[in-house]
Amino acid sequence: MNAYVVGRIRGVAGPRRHLADNWAAGAASANGRMVGMDQLVTSLVTLRRGARRALPLGAVALLGALVVWLATEPPASPATGAVLGLGAALFALRAWRRRAAGRLSRTRGQPDPEPLAVWRDLELGALLVVAAYALVLYLDGSLAGPSYPLTLVAVAVVGAFARLPASLGTMAVGLGLHAAVLHWGHDALGLRTLGPHAGFLVVFGLLNVLSLRIEVARLRRAAQEQLVAERQRVRDEARRHRLLQVAPDGPCEGDAAYAPLGAQERLLCSSIEQIELSTLLALRLLRQGLGAHTAMLLWLEPGGDELVVGELVSDDPELAEGPFSVRDGIFGAALARSQPVCVSGLKPSYILPYYQGACPVRALCAVPVAEHGRARGVLVVDRTGDRPFAASEQELCEQAASFAVLSAQNERVFAQLDRTKAEQGKLYRAAQALGAATTEQQVVDAAVASAREIAAVDFAAFTLFDPEAQAHQICAVSGERAEPLVGQRFPHASGLVSMVVRNGQALPYRGEYDAAQHVVFDRNLQPPDLPSLVVLPLVVHEQPLGTLVLGSRRRGAFGDAARGLLEVLASHVAVSLSNARMVRRLAEQATTDGMTGLLNKRALVEAAELKISAARRFGRRLSLVLCDLDHFKCINDTHGHDVGDMVIKELGRIQQRARRGTDAAGRFGGEEFVVVCEETDARGALLLAERIRAELGQTTFHAAAGPVRCTCSVGIATYPDAGTSWEELFKAADAALYHSKRTGRDKATVWSPALGQHAAA
Ligand code: GH3
Ligand code: MG
Ligand code: MG
Repeated sequence: MNAYVVGRIRGVAGPRRHLADNWAAGAASANGRMVGMDQLVTSLVTLRRGARRALPLGAVALLGALVVWLATEPPASPATGAVLGLGAALFALRAWRRRAAGRLSRTRGQPDPEPLAVWRDLELGALLVVAAYALVLYLDGSLAGPSYPLTLVAVAVVGAFARLPASLGTMAVGLGLHAAVLHWGHDALGLRTLGPHAGFLVVFGLLNVLSLRIEVARLRRAAQEQLVAERQRVRDEARRHRLLQVAPDGPCEGDAAYAPLGAQERLLCSSIEQIELSTLLALRLLRQGLGAHTAMLLWLEPGGDELVVGELVSDDPELAEGPFSVRDGIFGAALARSQPVCVSGLKPSYILPYYQGACPVRALCAVPVAEHGRARGVLVVDRTGDRPFAASEQELCEQAASFAVLSAQNERVFAQLDRTKAEQGKLYRAAQALGAATTEQQVVDAAVASAREIAAVDFAAFTLFDPEAQAHQICAVSGERAEPLVGQRFPHASGLVSMVVRNGQALPYRGEYDAAQHVVFDRNLQPPDLPSLVVLPLVVHEQPLGTLVLGSRRRGAFGDAARGLLEVLASHVAVSLSNARMVRRLAEQATTDGMTGLLNKRALVEAAELKISAARRFGRRLSLVLCDLDHFKCINDTHGHDVGDMVIKELGRIQQRARRGTDAAGRFGGEEFVVVCEETDARGALLLAERIRAELGQTTFHAAAGPVRCTCSVGIATYPDAGTSWEELFKAADAALYHSKRTGRDKATVWSPALGQHAAA
């Protein structure tokens, strides 16, 4: 799964992208001249790489031409031998390099791209065919000799091992070479014989390719089926021995079904093997000790209707495989009475369900196997002799049955311990990752990574609930084709997400998700179509924060075992998310002015100092625009502080709108505002000041006593003319502002040396 897409959850997404864009634009313009150079270098590199790729095939073509040339002369054995040797050496070299390249790409974990692999196959195949022709000409002097089939063998070998396009290419090379030798060769066979040869070569080659590929596909399918069967066996056995309270993850779909057994399955395998070994040992001892013909332990299937053979030791080669019905004769009797049933004096006509032919035994003892009072199976021991099973022998059978149950119980404890350890490990790692996450984005990343450790998660979405608006918003997603969901809002209605927020319980109930029936977000807004989905509540201090929606391509991926862990994970995530939000809010509060949302004085001075030092380093201009409301005391006194606040907020909004993305705007205190404009000279700053002044001047505020209007005066100071530090620039701007005030207000003044420093004045 892919990169996460995070929307409005983080305030930094916008500015960060903006900066990146700026950087890219700057780099592009600065390096404009470099682009042409880059293209040239790229073309040269591509050309060189192409030449290097084509070189081996060129060598093969040359070798082929040499073979044809040699065929024009009367048999020249030493020369043909030399070509043959050269071909063989080239072949060995290419094969060795191919192996080395393959090994390298395997260590890097990146297999060769398919076209490159085909190209390499073609090189080797063509070399082999050319070498085969050289060998035939060397041995027979022409293509009419007995060695001729070697050329067909070469094509067939390539067909067997190379990729299909390379095999077809090699066939074409063989045909071309054959035609050339026939045409120009000294034995003047002429092109007449090419037709049958071509037909033969194509049929021979294709048949070989086809049969091999069919065989490979058959073997692969057989191996996959074996794997699926093994997986099913492990699941069945695990359920039979109750090694899991719940079934392991549901049946796999697609490639997952053919993946090697996972850690959980391997663990189950070893537990099952251990139970089988212990049971087998007990049966062997029993059989030897009692002189039995057959000793067999049958386990009851989870449904309780059938008995399947667990382990058996017998002299009889013709035992029925089962499964057997629990009502079948002797089994039914032992299970129904919950007591050992012993019979003797059996006749060959007596029907025992596990013998296919006539009854070979005379005495039999069937002991019910129980665990905590519940039937688990039947242990059967029989013998050919007439001697009935004595009470002490029955007791031995009962002990063997208890031993088998005990070994299953032991394994269950081990499996449970192991599972608990693994689960604790997962939760510990999740807690660590979430504890280290300080931003909402980091929490999202850690949560998705941890959820993936617990279950096969292919889709994840975070929704946040807005109680005031009674709406949800999808704030972050992860998964294929999920991007469009980011930022979408939907009402607090009847979807799963809404219900989970309302009830604080994970849904759907028992994980039984039905994509056709369930509405997850909203009718018009659904997650990607997946067979498994779970919505987990994110609750902090009993307050619903939102939900974590997880989806999987694997059916039953969120079974009870995974769900329990995911619910614990979700509660960790909720706490981390709320902490990260709090940290963000605190950081915002520490830098922003509560009334206007602009930077506060401290943050503004910090930003200004940074921008001034950048202007100094890059030799750029920078301007400070200082605004102060005119006769503001009067507005407060006449209309009250509420109206005054209204005016301050509006001036804040105007500044926010008027500034560029790279400008820093802040409330400097009271009714004074500062905008620090990067790469702006006095003229540009004056334009901005006039815009702000004009917009405020046109705004009418509605107070109880009637409409109110307010103006502002502005002072502008530009780096480096008015000063080179924040202090100097601010003083200069203040002097300019003072001048605006003194000369009638509602105007903007740019600092000039004539104004001097207001503070000094
Ligand atoms: P001038 O044109 O010379 O600037 O006259 P002025 O009345 O605006 O004088 P000055 O700039 O010194 O006024 C500052 C006043 O702004 C003092 C204070 O009552 C008021 N003020 C400061 N902060 C706030 C605030 O947050 N809300 C309100 N309503 N008034 C504020
Ligand atoms: Mg003031
Ligand atoms: Mg004022």
